Amino acid sequence: MTWIHQAIRSCAGPPSAGPGTGLPLTAVAPAIRLASVYRFSRTFRGFMSSNSALRIAGPPKLVLFDLDDTLCDHSASLRVRLRMAFGPALDGMSGVDLNDVVEASAARSIAGTEHFADVLGEFGVTEPERISGAVQRYIGDRYRGLKLYAESLEVIQAIRQRKPVGLITNGPSKIQRDKLVWLDIAHLFPLALVSEEEGIAKPDPEIFHRALRLAGSQPEEAVYIGNDPRVDIAGAQAAGLTSIWINRGGQPWPGGTRPGYEIADLRSLIPLLGLDDPID
Ligand SMILES: [Mg+2]
Repeated sequence: MTWIHQAIRSCAGPPSAGPGTGLPLTAVAPAIRLASVYRFSRTFRGFMSSNSALRIAGPPKLVLFDLDDTLCDHSASLRVRLRMAFGPALDGMSGVDLNDVVEASAARSIAGTEHFADVLGEFGVTEPERISGAVQRYIGDRYRGLKLYAESLEVIQAIRQRKPVGLITNGPSKIQRDKLVWLDIAHLFPLALVSEEEGIAKPDPEIFHRALRLAGSQPEEAVYIGNDPRVDIAGAQAAGLTSIWINRGGQPWPGGTRPGYEIADLRSLIPLLGLDDPID
């Protein structure tokens, strides 16, 4: 497959793109027409980032975001906390690599401490005080290392000047609300739905529909930006929103209905949403 075909496939999705596929027809033609631009940027992600001509037809009236690993670097902070939690638990243990324990924990679950005993047990750590110590260190410094991505704040602010924005996040109410305060963005998202509070979680379309009702918008008027293909993209598409996959790591699409659009960082939203035009 040539790079041009790869670029077109990456952006345009299957040949059947269009109504019923979750992929706007408008995503197809620009990708093909502008494929030559790709030659100079070498990567599809760079092409998307630098090409201001590719934009959603019919500017959305509502812009909804995921939180973890979309606006803030939850994965990085998780590993900081896991290292802090597990490091002392491994004191005096020979032949156990802290990184292996951290990755084993992250693979098992990206939240909570219920799996800590099992993970440590796999590495030969069974003493209750070592396990409880790890749990306490993890819980005691819950937001250590949690930061917005470098461009998040400026992009949120730029969009808020022109469009209503909102947030739909899965997780416990206290933790997700505290994160918004910690990140100092709670005031930017008066419309913020947390799955525990709603009693329903992404990818269930109902949580997207609730956000739309609160905003007074229709599905076709809204976009949803998220990092998780299964939770964010599949959910938004099932609810009838235009989905935008933020793929910072350049991962291959894992399968299923492709996202409406793919971006490598949030700055790409400005041209994609048509927000680089002068304000009327
Ligand atoms: Mg996420």
